[in-house]
Amino acid sequence: MQNLFQIKQEMCDIGRRIWLRGYCAGNEGNHSVRVAEDRVFCTPTGVSKGFLTPDQITVVDMDGHQIDTHNKMKRTSEVLLHLQIYKARPDIRAVVHSHPPHATAFAMANIPIPEGVHPEAEVFLGKVPLAKYTTPSYKELGESVVALINKDTNTVMLGNHGSVCFDATLLAAYYKLEILDAYCRILLLTRQLGRINQLTRQEMIDLLKVKEQFGLSDRRLSCAAQGCIGADNEPFLATFDIRPQTACACQEDGGVEKDPAAISEEKFEAMVRQLTDQIMAGARG
Ligand SMILES: [Zn+2]
Repeated sequence: MQNLFQIKQEMCDIGRRIWLRGYCAGNEGNHSVRVAEDRVFCTPTGVSKGFLTPDQITVVDMDGHQIDTHNKMKRTSEVLLHLQIYKARPDIRAVVHSHPPHATAFAMANIPIPEGVHPEAEVFLGKVPLAKYTTPSYKELGESVVALINKDTNTVMLGNHGSVCFDATLLAAYYKLEILDAYCRILLLTRQLGRINQLTRQEMIDLLKVKEQFGLSDRRLSCAAQGCIGADNEPFLATFDIRPQTACACQEDGGVEKDPAAISEEKFEAMVRQLTDQIMAGARG
């Protein structure tokens, strides 16, 4: 069991990792730990997360009032978002808010993080909702995030802004951030390759069952057979030059429903032949 000073030390240590990995530039980002019913440690405003010292960590009550008035540092203005998450989910003891570049690119483009393609992301993040843009530090930000949280949620994207991850420990919340940004980096690289293989309904059902065996519940298990997973993938798939089918369209056997508008291979080849002949004729004439 950590004492209060060790918790502050860990907050500095996590801050250094956040800064080193480029999840927060300048003085961006903030994280907090709920240490008692009405007490939360939170990072100060105006300090890089890479250079935090334990004495700079501020203490607030659940209404956001700073308790350690002797502290030269002021609590982050975004603590209101953290407090609303703690109020909505008493099991949560740590919140990490960052601007991880790869994940934030999705929030900038207003593209929800796709699901049903990457087993690690499915097990450790699950469904990641995207909250509409709200001015940072406004209480509406917390309200829009809390409205999207259910008991399985541990990460929410903030429109045009960044991410917020939360868990029972600070380290676990930080790992969510790492996994989120690594996953989004992979998605962007996959998009460059031009195609994406989506898991079938049955593969997702099997995966969520394994997840449940780990003690991680996922409400999507009850609707996966009906194709609820991947319903929000459309905006991401639409960014591909050749648009892939949605995961919802994947059949149990792994096949993909045929698009009636799609042209057959023979027809395509015939079109290419015709085009080549025309070019050749043009070149000769
Ligand atoms: Zn922010």
